Amino acid sequence: MKNLVVSTRNAGKLREFQAYLAPLGYNVLPLPQDLLLPVEDGETLDDNACIKAQYSVKMTGLTSLADDSGLYVKALGDAPGIYSARYAGEFASDEENRAKLLKELNLMDLHERTAEFRCSLCFYVAGEIGPVVYARGVTKGHISFEEKGSMGFGYDSLFIPNEGDGRTFAQMTLDEKALYSHRARALNELVAILSNVS
Ligand code: IMP
Repeated sequence: MKNLVVSTRNAGKLREFQAYLAPLGYNVLPLPQDLLLPVEDGETLDDNACIKAQYSVKMTGLTSLADDSGLYVKALGDAPGIYSARYAGEFASDEENRAKLLKELNLMDLHERTAEFRCSLCFYVAGEIGPVVYARGVTKGHISFEEKGSMGFGYDSLFIPNEGDGRTFAQMTLDEKALYSHRARALNELVAILSNVS
């Protein structure tokens, strides 16, 4: 097994990465508890994923993987985008971010509520000069008029994927969400690339 550090403290994401990468021979490890997370001050999701992966390689000496994702709402000029986690303020909770989004879209019709989730993954090999692989995933959908469902996190209770049956991500099980999710799509692309090179 090859050790691979995932630059996250999110247990749910870690499990997801493990499920995809263990079959390729990777022993997926979390970022060590004593390390601070790096400042995500890139201008794109790719930049931020790369900052996190590069930091993890530097601090652990191990090949690392990082992801960054965000919600892009067309009527809001693609906001909150890379600022999704801090849409309602630097230390805003998921609830506060969702409340702000609903307020910004207040009185907008269904066709004005078009949105997409985007995810970038950066796979950074220890000892290499640059990132080796970027993989990306997108899920198109729209923002509902009110919160629905209690599973998931972030904006899940407001996001309805176009390919689904009208339920929000928060009304789906993890397996159902994985059929459509931006992160699952990016992971599928990464696995396809890594399978061809290893
Ligand atoms: P990060 O990739 O964990 O940095 O995600 C940034 C922000 O985007 C999170 O705080 C969430 O608010 C939002 N986000 C990313 N992926 C998802 C998702 O799958 N569901 C709901 N919200 C998400």
